[in-house]
Amino acid sequence: MARLLVTGGAGFLGSHLCDRLVGLGHYVIAADNFLTGSLDNVRHLSQNPLFELMRHDVTLPFDADVDGIYNLACPAAPIHYQRDPIQTTRTSVIGAINMLDLATRNGSVILQASTSEVYGDPDIHPQPEDYWGRVNPVGIRSCYDEGKRCAETLFFDYWRQVQLEIKVMRIFNTYGPRMHPNDGRVVSNFIVQAIRGEPLTIYGTGSQTRSFCYVDDLTEAMVLLMATPAEFTGPVNVGNPIESTMLELAELVLGIVGGRSRLEFRPLPQDDPRQRCPDISLARKSLGWEPKVGLEDGLKETVAYFRHRLVDA
Ligand code: NAD
Ligand code: UDP
Repeated sequence: MARLLVTGGAGFLGSHLCDRLVGLGHYVIAADNFLTGSLDNVRHLSQNPLFELMRHDVTLPFDADVDGIYNLACPAAPIHYQRDPIQTTRTSVIGAINMLDLATRNGSVILQASTSEVYGDPDIHPQPEDYWGRVNPVGIRSCYDEGKRCAETLFFDYWRQVQLEIKVMRIFNTYGPRMHPNDGRVVSNFIVQAIRGEPLTIYGTGSQTRSFCYVDDLTEAMVLLMATPAEFTGPVNVGNPIESTMLELAELVLGIVGGRSRLEFRPLPQDDPRQRCPDISLARKSLGWEPKVGLEDGLKETVAYFRHRLVDA
């Protein structure tokens, strides 16, 4: 049993990760400032003696006696990270420094939840880890993309300078139960709109692509990455390499939910990447991992969650 810190532990991915880690018998401290996370996501763990929830903002220093840190704290959906972009950069950069300092003091391993956004609007497809990306440094997505890029830089500098054990995971679009209904991301938007019988909002022509990974596959990869030998730092792409256009996703959601929603076309947001698909050769080789849950099955689980949640709300 290890003592583990999960920052962003009350968020979508963080809460699923806490479930998995507690299930494996670890003692888990979740630290979260509840910017986009919610107590509801971890309420079921509140009586578990292996789980502790702390209100904490990672932009402030933190002390805890832990063997490992999963650093997930950061709003991930464009509408949230763009609301206070200065704070988003602060969370990524100062948050990374605070957590790297904590890991250094403890001599513990630290995993960074990085993102496919470090590739920006890529001109290489699918994206391998040695692609340096095509990121606008001054656009409305930059606080997130450049914040995460800077965090990766910090991780590798701590690794080189103080020999800290690091693991960097580049996460591609991940979805599943506990996404917030007002999250603004495409999967939750389409499902909520379809359940309510509202039009599905397609930004641009809907021909842009994303590759959607189910949350259970993702948290499995996180645990596997943490268990790799010290020499393995990543960065490693984790995502589902099956690519869909937003129009295909809309049709799939409508097929599962049923109902009569039509499609409504809206302007494409600035700097919206045209295509995104991970090359997961490294994850296959180094983690022995690949996604198991197909998009249709994962969407069915997510639709069931939202049906329940929207009735309760
Ligand atoms: P989320 O918004 O549900 O979770 C983020 C959590 O971090 C929330 O609980 C939020 O309250 C917390 N948080 C934000 N700022 C904080 C701060 N300053 N101090 C403490 N806590 C703070 O998003 P998510 O989808 O669960 O994403 C988790 C992590 O994974 C993020 O770092 C995100 O960048 C990364 N990621 C997610 C995806 C995805 O598709 N879901 C893709 C790539 C990367
Ligand atoms: N998108 C859309 N309709 C929506 C929300 C998003 O067509 O209601 C598009 C968005 O423009 C992008 C894709 O879906 O091209 C994925 O958006 P999301 O915010 O989920 O993730 P990201 O852009 O960060 O990959």
